[in-house]
Parts: sequence; C-alpha cells; structure tokens
Amino acid sequence: MPELFFDGFGPERIVEVYHPKLNIRGIVVIDNTALGPGKGGIRFTPSVDKAEVFRLARTMTWKCAIAGLPFGGAKAGIIGDPKSLTPRQKDEWVAAFAKLLRGISPEHYVAAPDMGMAEREMGVFARANGSLKSCTGKPEKMGGLPHELGSTGFGVFHSVIVALRHLGKKCEDVTFAVEGFGNVGESTCKFLTESGARLVAVSDSKGALVVPDGIDFERLKKVKKARGTVAAYGGKVLPSKDLIFQDVDVLVTAAIPDLIRMKDVPKIRAGLIVEGSNIPTTIECEQALAKKGVLVVPDFVANAGGVISSYVEYIGGRERKMFSLVEEKVRKNTSVVLGSAEKQGIIPRMAALRIAQERVRAKCKSCR
Ligand code: NAD
Repeated sequence: MPELFFDGFGPERIVEVYHPKLNIRGIVVIDNTALGPGKGGIRFTPSVDKAEVFRLARTMTWKCAIAGLPFGGAKAGIIGDPKSLTPRQKDEWVAAFAKLLRGISPEHYVAAPDMGMAEREMGVFARANGSLKSCTGKPEKMGGLPHELGSTGFGVFHSVIVALRHLGKKCEDVTFAVEGFGNVGESTCKFLTESGARLVAVSDSKGALVVPDGIDFERLKKVKKARGTVAAYGGKVLPSKDLIFQDVDVLVTAAIPDLIRMKDVPKIRAGLIVEGSNIPTTIECEQALAKKGVLVVPDFVANAGGVISSYVEYIGGRERKMFSLVEEKVRKNTSVVLGSAEKQGIIPRMAALRIAQERVRAKCKSCR
C-alpha cells in the first residue's frame, strides 16, 4: 500500500481532529488548492488512515483539474464503524466532525459523501458547519441534486460516445457489457440502450447475465428491483467476473476495484474499455491492453460526472444545468485526452495525468 509522501504538488495541509468526549478521531488531507478549495468526500470506515485519505485526495486533485473545475483535491476520513452506531449516534458523530472542521471548511475544504456517508449525513454536516457551501451531496430541500439522476453514468455514457467516435464507430452499431448495476452501471445502461447500443451482458455481485440478442433495459430494472439481482432476468448466468471476457465492442466497469488483472488481459475481447468505476485496474494492465489494441478511457476522465454534478450543486445550479455541464465537460475532456494520447503515443491515463498536472502547475505559485 503506497504511503503518504510529499512532492511538487502537496499535500498542503494534513489536519487531524479529535473529540475527547465522543472519542472520535478524524483526518482531512488537503492536497492542492491551486485551482480552488479542496474537494473530496468523507470516508467513514474503521480502517481509514492518513495514507488512504492522501491517495484519495491526490486522485481528486487530478480529477478536478482534468474536469476543468475550480476545485482542488482533498479527502477526509472518520475512523469508526458507522454500522455499530444508531442513526442518532451517527448524526452526533458527523455533527461533531463538522464542527471540528469549521476552521478549514468551506474556505479550504468542501466535503461530499464517500463510503459510510450519504445524503442525510451531508445535511447534518452542513447544518453543524453552518454553511451550505461546506459540502455537496445534500438533500434536495437543502439544494442538493439527487443521486438518482445518475450524473456519473450520464457522463460515462458521453465518454463512450466520444471514444467510439475516436475509433470510427457509432453507438447504434455496437454491443456492450456493464460490470455492476448500481448507481453508475444502471444509468450507463439506460443512456446507452436509449441511444441504440445493444446491451448483451450485465453483472452484479450475484452473477453475470449474458443475452446475445440483447437485454431490455426497463425489464432488467424491474427484475433487479423485484428479485435483487440481474441474474433473475432469464438467460445464461456466469460468475460475475466472467463479464469482462464477453465478446462485445464496449466494456464499461461500474463496480469493484482491481477487476482486471494482468492474467485477464489475454482473454479480454472488447475493443474499448471505459472505466466508470474507480481503479478497476492498474497502469501496467492498461499498458498491456493498449499493446493488444484495446483503448481504455481512464476512471478520472470517464467518471467525472459525479464531481461535475457536485460543482453545479455548489454554485446553486439545478438539474438542467447539471446535465448540460456533465455532457459538455466529459465529452470535451475525453476527446482532448484521447487526441493527446494518440499524438504522443502514450496511453490515455498518462496523457490525462500530464494535462491535469500542467493545469495545476499553471496556477500554482508554490508547486515545483
Ligand atoms: P453502487 O453501490 O450503487 O453499485 C455497485 C454495483 O456493483 C451493485 O450493483 C453491486 O451489486 C455490484 N457489484 C458488487 N460486487 C460486484 C462484483 N464482484 N461484480 C459485479 N458487480 C458487483 O455503487 P456506485 O455508486 O454505482 O459506484 C460504482 C463504482 O463507481 C465505484 O467504484 C465508485 O467508486 C465509482 N464511482 C461512483 C460515482 C457515483 O457518483 N456513484 C462517481 C465516481 C465513481
């Protein structure tokens, strides 16, 4: 596991907080604020530590920079097991953490939900902090944009369209598979099927459904809701992992980390992989996939719809603004990254990283 390190970009601040009465410990890492206040979620797990928070904060620095948002990168952690708390106790913890962060949020840190945190907790956080600008992902009545709108999946969909165009293909002519049928996976399936692409395989934690003639999205949604798994749709069902080996034009990842390993690379048949999930593979695998002729759109480019939606909430925008900004930014960023990668003969992740670093350096007086 990589440790925390200091380099030419940050981290600028590492804040540790402690609430003696409730015995709560928390961490905030503000990695770089050259482009704006540090943006990033709060992770509430028993194992979260400084190194993990730092890694996630650094990822946010690049994600916000590549998305062209006026946010820097940050992340926070509350050390504890949220499942062991009653809803009232959890509110108490979140409120205490928010009060401890009043000196840095919202000026230097803008929070959001991450593991163990959701809309309700963001409402508690904002109330305890005293500013609606202290976090995004709030309930709708506090100016939040509902998670169910599927902003991340909407962005993943646009990333697929642009990448297909880069390969000289059209949406209506392709087949696709989606790993995971949660928030990101379901909305990606919706927008792609509506645009004429054929969904032939989809998975969740219980299995991978394969229907070469095509899966009806509305029926699939009903089956998942009623029976709890896509495997109950009716069709061939394989182990979840086998989804990645299906013979499709496009593979979208939308569930677990470390999904594609080196030993899987020779068996991948998709020509395009769009990373809707975070860290579904390693840079070495992406390089090996590129050698095989598989184009991979990296996570922090393809799944930026969520943070773009957060920005719209932050500036007080509503649903329409969110959809238009996600479309505009994800399309532009995917196109710039793929064009730059091709021109330089490097993989898209490296091209995206270079662009993000240049953007941060251009505004950062204290960076090396
Ligand atoms: P979610 O909890 O809503 O859905 C996850 C889905 O993955 C579920 O359908 C679950 O059954 C399925 N799943 C679990 N284990 C699986 C397995 N082994 N094989 C196949 N499917 C499996 O989560 P989400 O919000 O859709 O997030 C998915 C990924 O996208 C995560 O990596 C997350 O970090 C990333 N992401 C999410 C957002 C967002 O706005 N939700 C934004 C950026 C990145």
